Amino acid sequence: MKFPSSFKKLMALSVSLAAIGSATQSEAQRGQRAPRAISQSAASKAAQQHPQLVAEFGGAEGGARGAYVVSVGRKVAAASRVPGGGSGVFTITTLNSPVMNAFAVPGGYVYITRQLLGLMDDEAELASVLGHEIGHIAARHSEGRQRTGLLSQLGALVVGAVTGSGQLAQLAGQISQGVFLSYSRGQEFESDDLGIRYMTAAGYDPMAAPSLLASLGAATSLEARGAGRNDERSTPSWARTHPLSADRVRRATQRAQATGRAGAGVRNRDQFLAQVDGLLVDDDPRQGIVEGRDFLHPDLRLGFSVPQGYGIQNGTRAVSITGSNGQAQFSTGQFNGNLSSYIAQVFQSVAGQQSGQLQIPQPRTTTVNGIPAAYTSTTAQTQQGPVDVTVFAYQWDSNTAYHFVTLTRGGSGLGPFGSLVGSLRRLTANEAAAIRPRVIDVVTVRPSDTVRSLASRMAYRDLQLERFLTLNSLEANSQLRPGEKVKLVVYGARS
Ligand SMILES: [Zn+2]
Repeated sequence: MKFPSSFKKLMALSVSLAAIGSATQSEAQRGQRAPRAISQSAASKAAQQHPQLVAEFGGAEGGARGAYVVSVGRKVAAASRVPGGGSGVFTITTLNSPVMNAFAVPGGYVYITRQLLGLMDDEAELASVLGHEIGHIAARHSEGRQRTGLLSQLGALVVGAVTGSGQLAQLAGQISQGVFLSYSRGQEFESDDLGIRYMTAAGYDPMAAPSLLASLGAATSLEARGAGRNDERSTPSWARTHPLSADRVRRATQRAQATGRAGAGVRNRDQFLAQVDGLLVDDDPRQGIVEGRDFLHPDLRLGFSVPQGYGIQNGTRAVSITGSNGQAQFSTGQFNGNLSSYIAQVFQSVAGQQSGQLQIPQPRTTTVNGIPAAYTSTTAQTQQGPVDVTVFAYQWDSNTAYHFVTLTRGGSGLGPFGSLVGSLRRLTANEAAAIRPRVIDVVTVRPSDTVRSLASRMAYRDLQLERFLTLNSLEANSQLRPGEKVKLVVYGARS
């Protein structure tokens, strides 16, 4: 989260939870006909959701880099033959998110994270990912998509509460539940095929598709090795929403070769590397970082720890915490020095028009790690039964208050979040100063450089070699040529 200046009431979301569609023929099954136009209703729904989705994922990357991604996406979209594809019917956004993923929302909205951008080696790989996502839209894969295990029991409860009591919906993770449904294996194959077809038609080397899939596979297994972080994040990465299977790279290689254009198209490596030089990777310290179970914000000088097994999603306006027995959100609002009225205001924001119907007991005061605090709970009736809503607020200084809102099963009060609300603390100046951003540094290989010497410059305490190899699609025995460019991840300066 950034410094929110005011307590903005977020609009209730219309989450596109999968309508269970009938088994319609996919575009590919119908042959090579041009796909149908994007529906007006899907487009306006996606447009409505877009600003909040962008805020939830750390904001959008603007400037030259954002424009570059859009320009590549336009070329691929034009090749998709979706009506209007080349002229702005698709909205392509680079998100300031540390989670490696890309996703598509029906209505022509395609999102890619900066973390995934940093993994790529050239413009053709970017074209392959954008082509794959445009393929999901063109083939209408979201229709009939089923909800997966991502929706926890309580998640379902809260989504159920949406209809009952308005803005309860705005809490925690409902966007991710809508967007991050995983595709079937068949849909992934179809999108791979469509992506390869589009990027080839747009003039790119289709071999970039299998090479990017291989990089994603390597990055995913690096993450699975723990990579020294084991961060609790609720946003799933590519491997979970676009299941990678062992034969997917081999299959994409065959498809790319079958185009007859393998190795023949555009790669635009230098142009691409110029765009990603200086790109932020991992967490953005200005918005706070996730380290293991801790959320640490060096600028706000605060930290807290989530319960084991709970995921953290760091949005622009709030940090959401989601798990099997509840959801919580950390945020801030306008503060006039009175914690009781602050708490009343938070309830108002959460429950909206229904807040008048809630019986809200007088807050009790306490102290957490030396910070004055107050809290109270109430029970909201929802279609799925009672839900306990607790607001726990802290007087940080005379002008600033922060709070957690928690949602748990009726009768359980703070439930699993007792340790969470008790963990808020001030960071020391040294702790805050130790949190630095990591950025991509594109360097030119010198004659004296080796894979190992370059890997030793990676800004990580562990797995430097593995990370360097994965970042550059290299093998341990790869020979570097002097004059060629490689990516490093180094510590950047705080701006
Ligand atoms: Zn996919």
